[in-house]
Amino acid sequence: MINLFTLHPDFLPMLVIKNISDLKSLIRTQKEAGKTIGFVPTMGALHAGHLSLVEEAGRQTDFVVVSIFVNPTQFNDPSDLEKYPRTLEADAKLLEASPCQAIFAPDIATMYPKPDTRQFNFGELERVMEGRFRPGHFNGVAQVVSKLFDIVEPHKAFFGQKDFQQLVIVKAMVKQLTLPVEIIACPIIREESGLARSSRNERLTAEQRENAALIYKTLCEARNQVPGQSVKTIKNMVVETINANPFLETEYFEIVNDTDLTSVNDWDEPVNKVACVAVFCGEVRLIDNLVLAEKIN
Ligand code: AMP
Repeated sequence: MINLFTLHPDFLPMLVIKNISDLKSLIRTQKEAGKTIGFVPTMGALHAGHLSLVEEAGRQTDFVVVSIFVNPTQFNDPSDLEKYPRTLEADAKLLEASPCQAIFAPDIATMYPKPDTRQFNFGELERVMEGRFRPGHFNGVAQVVSKLFDIVEPHKAFFGQKDFQQLVIVKAMVKQLTLPVEIIACPIIREESGLARSSRNERLTAEQRENAALIYKTLCEARNQVPGQSVKTIKNMVVETINANPFLETEYFEIVNDTDLTSVNDWDEPVNKVACVAVFCGEVRLIDNLVLAEKIN
């Protein structure tokens, strides 16, 4: 018998499962009935970006599980962890109108009964961009995603291209651990202004949010200048344009090869070229990326 934990049993029929064995037995039943399992890992504070992943999971699989867990091991900044929005009730409500059939919302002791001491090695993939400025972040991501995959055993898991480097690392982890899950990449969902949707946008003032739209605008401007301008000129243009806005400060801007994340130096290189940026808007750190040029065969 599944011990269901529901927030508002009267008007929230969505399954919110806190416990690993309950989730496993629910999934086992679904698999025995021949259903494929789709999985969308999140940290909650759900928005249209997350929902697009859930919709895609609904299109591609029969039974969709969404996890909501603010994973402490991937935060290198304790104040970021503390300020991360936690809105489980609203999230469950949003998922009601989606193809999600079960929410897995474990607490920290459930996910980490003992400290996770595993050290992954992703080589250069974890030393650039986010990895460089958030040491330990991807190790924490790999810890939690591998645990979640172990619990859910999904056929397919859905990740947003918004966290482009995370997607590359998760694919590398699946290969390293030879996990039987297919990773599906989903496009970035943006606000009307072009700002990539993020749970962190809620921490911006109206004025900051308006100014943060410059990030995407500048990435589009960079794309427009390919291949006429050199990689170096475009890099300088992006950083100067963003930093000229008094609300914004670039932490890094890189143009990388989308498979091994090495820097692109020339537009002629036969690789997909992705522009990746991290920008502080006040205390809020925003990331975004855009494909500047596809591989020419
Ligand atoms: P998070 O809750 O921030 O850990 O994100 C959970 C998943 O949602 C990750 O795979 C993210 O890449 C994805 N995601 C977050 N924001 C967006 C967005 N604006 N568009 C598409 N996917 C997103």
